[in-house]
Amino acid sequence: MESDWNRLKKIRHVVMDMDGTIYQGKKLYPTTLPFLALLRSFGIGYTFLTNNSSRGIPEYLKHLEDFGIRVESRQMVSSTINTVDYLRRNRPDIQRLFLLGTKSFREEIVSYGFTDVPMEEEPEAVVAAFDPKLDFERLCKAAWWIRHGKLWICTHPDLECPTELDTTLVDCGSVAACLRTVSGKEPIVLGKPNREMMDTILTVNHVRADETLMCGDRMYTDIQLAVNSGVAGVLISPLPHEQVPGNIATWTVPHLGVLGEWLSRAREI
Ligand SMILES: [Mg+2]
Repeated sequence: MESDWNRLKKIRHVVMDMDGTIYQGKKLYPTTLPFLALLRSFGIGYTFLTNNSSRGIPEYLKHLEDFGIRVESRQMVSSTINTVDYLRRNRPDIQRLFLLGTKSFREEIVSYGFTDVPMEEEPEAVVAAFDPKLDFERLCKAAWWIRHGKLWICTHPDLECPTELDTTLVDCGSVAACLRTVSGKEPIVLGKPNREMMDTILTVNHVRADETLMCGDRMYTDIQLAVNSGVAGVLISPLPHEQVPGNIATWTVPHLGVLGEWLSRAREI
């Protein structure tokens, strides 16, 4: 256990998933605000990280503010930002995109200097994001361009988006599976668990992987990201660590309050 305490003692930055980690739907977890206050009192920085590309950063900041959480825009990272970073870094020649996504997603991409190519014009690449109003004609057109060899990006691999409604919100990963099936072509999948997302956060906050924690409630995105980027992963789960099937997290806690207790204790040892 001693090495665990040493590892916790070194933490200077905490990256948090949002839904299922700091709140559930419209309900903020009671441990969230005290946990954030504790981080501030220790001088530990924090970033919120979401794969959901249906909302823009200003919408997320407003969403957090409605819960009483005030953060700067650099503390909020989405898979849309990851997509922009990826294209700028790896394919600076690409500017004209065929976009499957919400109005705010398309506006956000355009705000970074890309062109939202209309149906009748030829794009340089296709980007599929989470789109609760997915248009069948646009889906078919995306498949057509992908089949004709255009580079294609899926903003994140989540198969479904959490909801309190009596329905299944088909997310980007499932739409990508459909496009992959019909075109026979593989996408570039960004968002968690692609380590590029964490690398950007470490660079922006001037911290090392061993000084960072990643907290989340989903194994194949949040915790896999921690594993892929070499940071400690904290799984939020009602089950004890050993009872979580295929648990690859460093630690498992029922809520952030317990992690806060551990961080406090590590500083006293
Ligand atoms: Mg989550």
